Amino acid sequence: MDLLIWFAIFVFGTIIGSFLNVVILRYDTGESILSGKSACFSCAKNLSWYEMFPILSWVALRAKCGNCKSKISWQYPLVEFFTGLLFLGVHLKLNGIYFSNSPHLFLALGNLVSKCAYFYYFAVFSILIVITIYDLKHKIIPDLLVFSFAFLSLIWFVANIGFANLFQSPHFLDLFAGPILALPFFLMWLLSKGRWIGLGDAKLALGMGWFLGLIPGVSAVILGFWIGAVISLSLLFVQRLNLSGKNLTIKSEIPFAPFLILGLLAVFFFGFDVMNLGVLFSQ
Ligand SMILES: [Zn+2]
Repeated sequence: MDLLIWFAIFVFGTIIGSFLNVVILRYDTGESILSGKSACFSCAKNLSWYEMFPILSWVALRAKCGNCKSKISWQYPLVEFFTGLLFLGVHLKLNGIYFSNSPHLFLALGNLVSKCAYFYYFAVFSILIVITIYDLKHKIIPDLLVFSFAFLSLIWFVANIGFANLFQSPHFLDLFAGPILALPFFLMWLLSKGRWIGLGDAKLALGMGWFLGLIPGVSAVILGFWIGAVISLSLLFVQRLNLSGKNLTIKSEIPFAPFLILGLLAVFFFGFDVMNLGVLFSQ
């Protein structure tokens, strides 16, 4: 029975994922996200019903358009798969299966607020997936999405804590977690006049602070920096080896949002804690 529910949630996630692919594609193009049929980019042939199954259609068609045989990007099945995986992860997390149900994240579990938890986390992870792909593709984080994330996280935090407790000691710092996490990014953006990082990263950190709380938020940002540094250095190293290839210099912008979001996932699902790293190595 459990497995059936898990499978249904995963499939639901892949369907939302294929919708997110459309959002990524049409965002800011003036095309409506909800109307219009899905069509091939090369030959403009409308997709048939059997070409619109998440993941499966891409595999069955061997990554090619059924009509003109032009290639269909890896992005489509990957977004569908990871949306399914994250939705399933949210279900497991909310029920304390495999992932521990961190008490500070779900204080009100069991009452009305918790019934909305699925909607909240599904919405947040959908937004984060679109931000990740959009930043990778266009090196820009759309304002509407990143502010929706920050706004949703703040509302959820306040709804969980309740107004009366908001200004008391353990929660007081978390109330300011958003601005506190955003501040260093904002200063880096200001001092470098936007050359080191974009202002979008500061806006993303704002939401991360309210989503995770102050201390876990700091862990997520630090982990994001580490992942970003390792990947940037590897790219530079590969480029040095491959002198004839595409020139990636230190000035080439590296989209930073995906690293921050990886940090967020590690903290949210696995409770990664930068202050506790010593424990890992002392065992
Ligand atoms: Zn085609």
